[in-house]
Amino acid sequence: MYPPKFEYYRASSVDEAVTLMGQHGGKFIAGGHSLLPVMKMRLADPGVLIDIGRIDGLRGITKEDGRFKIGALTTHATVAAADDRQFPQALKHAASMIGDPQVRNRGTVGGNVAHADPSSDLPTVFLALGATFHTAGANGPRTVHAANFFTGLFETALGEHEVLTAVEVPAEAVETGSAYAKLFNPASRYAMVGACASVTVNVMGECTVCSVAVGGLTSKATAAPSVGAALVGKRLTEKNITAAAQAILNDLGDDVMGDIHASAAYRRQMAPVFVGRALTLASHRAGWVARLEKNVKDVAADVLEEIERRLK
Ligand SMILES: Cc1cc2nc3c(=O)[nH]c(=O)nc-3n(C[C@H](O)[C@H](O)[C@H](O)COP(=O)(O)OP(=O)(O)OC[C@H]3O[C@@H](n4cnc5c(N)ncnc54)[C@H](O)[C@@H]3O)c2cc1C
Repeated sequence: MYPPKFEYYRASSVDEAVTLMGQHGGKFIAGGHSLLPVMKMRLADPGVLIDIGRIDGLRGITKEDGRFKIGALTTHATVAAADDRQFPQALKHAASMIGDPQVRNRGTVGGNVAHADPSSDLPTVFLALGATFHTAGANGPRTVHAANFFTGLFETALGEHEVLTAVEVPAEAVETGSAYAKLFNPASRYAMVGACASVTVNVMGECTVCSVAVGGLTSKATAAPSVGAALVGKRLTEKNITAAAQAILNDLGDDVMGDIHASAAYRRQMAPVFVGRALTLASHRAGWVARLEKNVKDVAADVLEEIERRLK
């Protein structure tokens, strides 16, 4: 299938991209893995494409002042291969589960979030991690918090002529763990239900911070404050996690979507299951507390055994 005809311009810098967009209008193209399919299906006919895919400054991951900055043109494969210990595990894991190797090697972080497909993985993860989005436009640079970035079905806070330059996420402290769990669409691997959880635990094994978001369920990535509220102050036991995961139903309201892949009722039923899985994995990854607890228990068991042996 061929896309409709379009004019093509290639930008070699962010400034040039913004200028070209101001002059000609149309759409930016990065990896083309979302835009070209919708053009071929005649769901979009932008007339002009401004290629930003070769702007070097927008590629790669840097770390500064306890935050990772991910250039908009960074591919999913690069994110999945991030090897810094403090890089958020949920983000790395979610990127590794996107589509297939071809999609992960061409598709970009910027294109993924700018497209704002409700079944995409990264909006959910960035929302749970409290990411910040950096943009550039005719009126200069701007930053937008994840809570305000995803505004609706395929809609974001990006202005018509604005280019997303980077996404920033906090580095993960040792007492924090994050995870992403998804119910795959078996054909495309987009999320029918996607859940991201980030939890912080104290030395007593109690949850002090819990941030959860879900995707694939409503028109945009949705934060789940009720789940966090149900878990903070409690120990991360299976029972507490299962009970807290049910609270996702309060955050979803009546807007759960259904389609040929999964009905709204099925998605609704799966939401607490996948929130529970993300919370469980995140709590295991908030590793040192769990390890400390286990060591203390093991030492105590050894001591008791030794006392019993000597008393015999
Ligand atoms: C078969 C298949 C399976 C997939 N499976 C998954 C999956 O499991 N999970 C998932 O999350 N995604 C999935 N995707 C989508 C994939 O992640 C896309 O690559 C990504 O969504 C878009 O990135 P891109 O660079 O290709 O963007 P493009 O297609 O180039 O652009 C997409 C949109 O974003 C805009 N845009 C791009 N970059 C910028 C920028 N820097 N600033 C402003 N606007 C910009 C474009 O104008 C366009 O509107 C799949 C795609 C395919 C084809």
